[in-house]
Amino acid sequence: MSALAYIRDYGSEEETSEDSEKEDSEHCKKLKLPTPNLSGVSVVPSEDHIDDPSLHSGRTRSFPHVRGNWATFIYVEYPNKENLFQIIAKLEAIVTSFDESCIVCEDVHISLSKTFVLRYHMIKSFTSTLQNVLSNNNSFVLNFDSVEVYCNEEKTRTFIALGVDAISHAYLNNILKQIDSLLDDFKLPTFYENPSFHMSILSVIGNKKELLLKNFNNLYDIFIQHKYILKSENINKVNCKSGNKIYQYCLK
Ligand code: AMP
Repeated sequence: MSALAYIRDYGSEEETSEDSEKEDSEHCKKLKLPTPNLSGVSVVPSEDHIDDPSLHSGRTRSFPHVRGNWATFIYVEYPNKENLFQIIAKLEAIVTSFDESCIVCEDVHISLSKTFVLRYHMIKSFTSTLQNVLSNNNSFVLNFDSVEVYCNEEKTRTFIALGVDAISHAYLNNILKQIDSLLDDFKLPTFYENPSFHMSILSVIGNKKELLLKNFNNLYDIFIQHKYILKSENINKVNCKSGNKIYQYCLK
């Protein structure tokens, strides 16, 4: 499952921030932390989602929901989804011809963290420290130059993705190092040791890496033929989704 899908499932129970506030109010009374400065960070509620596995090919939550824990994830949102549709449709037609479980990824994005869990009372300090970290980074131009295949850690889904080019990789890697260092400070899991920045566009059920790699030349040819449709995109913000809120951080 993609990281955003995890959050959608994980954060979709009936629990609201009020529930968590009640639960953590005792803790907050005892521990008076300074109010973090989140001015300059836009916070937008994401859509409510009712988890129905039949609607997303039987995907299920891979870690148990715990009250007061908020699934959190840092990523770059792809700004121009319309340009993607044509290329996705072409690749989908090929993948579906040998694996009928193929679906198009919703919420296309480039992950800058794995999904990690924040306790409710940590969200403010984490998101404001993240603002300090990200505000020193410059906007950059994003380009893709390859098709890649990834399997999730649970080996329950395989993803067909567009791989970023070397220049985009360098920018993303620089931002990632700062995010990883922050995650380390908060004793949270860091990203992959050898990060491979990509945008998942299709996925199939199970570990189908071998099958997809057998058909790789077809996929790569289609990508090369249609690559011109994807324009260079200016990336000027990074998002952090925690539970049902999305924090948006502007780059310089
Ligand atoms: P995403 O679309 O970002 O959710 O990524 C799809 C899958 O790629 C995730 O489930 C990751 O576990 C997997 N993945 C495997 N190896 C890597 C890597 N080196 N860097 C980033 N993602 C990876």
